[in-house]
Amino acid sequence: MAEEWVEQMQNQVNTLEELEKYINVTDDERAAIQTLKTRWGTTPYFASLMDKDDPQCPIRMQVIPSRKEELNEFGMDNYLVWKENRATGEVRPDSIARQYDDRIAFTVVEVCANYCRHCFRKELVVDQDLQLHFDVDEGLQWIADHREIRDVLITGGDPLLLSDDKLEYLVSKLREIPHIEMIRFGSRLPIVLPHRITEGLKKAIGGFHPVPVWVNTQCNHPKEITEMTERAVYALMSCGINVGNQAVLLKGINDDVSTFRELHQKLLRTRIRPYYLFNCEPAPGIDHFRTPVEKGAELIRDALRGHTTGMAQPTYVLATNIGKIPLMPDYYIVGKNEKEYTLRNHKGQLTKTRVIPAN
Ligand code: SF4
Repeated sequence: MAEEWVEQMQNQVNTLEELEKYINVTDDERAAIQTLKTRWGTTPYFASLMDKDDPQCPIRMQVIPSRKEELNEFGMDNYLVWKENRATGEVRPDSIARQYDDRIAFTVVEVCANYCRHCFRKELVVDQDLQLHFDVDEGLQWIADHREIRDVLITGGDPLLLSDDKLEYLVSKLREIPHIEMIRFGSRLPIVLPHRITEGLKKAIGGFHPVPVWVNTQCNHPKEITEMTERAVYALMSCGINVGNQAVLLKGINDDVSTFRELHQKLLRTRIRPYYLFNCEPAPGIDHFRTPVEKGAELIRDALRGHTTGMAQPTYVLATNIGKIPLMPDYYIVGKNEKEYTLRNHKGQLTKTRVIPAN
């Protein structure tokens, strides 16, 4: 008998008929599904979390195509080629994307359990306009040949959809490369398919080793976290894998103070450490999810800083072809002289403190 996570994938909700078993599909949703040439779908588990009647349900908006995807005023064509420096001088396999000297993103698969409508890799994963060839052994050889690489992010698609055997092979081969110091997986499965965190997976990628494995997931709304998520995260931690979150700032989903605070508090209660908050990237056809760039810093200032534990605070970044640019709120230093700085806190209160002045 197939494992539960495999059955979930075999029964992915990706037809109108299947979707209608979970929600009352609106005319707009129906038109988008029938018109757009795009890969869409989710797991039966994630579909079951959708609100039956509310098209503004945060899970529905991330799962179901919209006619708004046909509009593209602010998105960049060939965004992924630009973002991942695929048209620059360095010759790399398709599986290797590079923005930094000492670390790379290693794409090993291009299928997902949930095809997020706001995906920044939309051209590759969701709309499939960009055809690339991902060869794991070719990528491993490139990494072995580049001794400056010390940190590998395994990505996709969703890499945890690979079989246990393939994951074990990948992790063990990376660990054999002497200059690799850490391995990270980017995966939405703890959120959209927590069933995947099985004993077999824990054996394949977990356990003690001097080269640690980290998992960074993506959770954008508190509604995405269930008891199954909590158990999956605990299972990963119990075999030595820390779990972080890389949220995407999404208009109408998490761009208000109360949802934003609840999301980050709930992540911590689930033992997931908020790591990054991404400004929604300028991939084509996702303008309707994007907020002004200042919004993320405002939310960190108004919902998190001083309002809840510091551990709940992600770093807000804009991802670019030259790396992530931090965009944190900047309201603290309101005055300074040679001996003293005047500082403002989250309530607007002022204080003075003695500091070592800048030269
Ligand atoms: S799981 Fe990740 S790669 Fe897949 S569609 Fe969502 S954001 Fe894109």
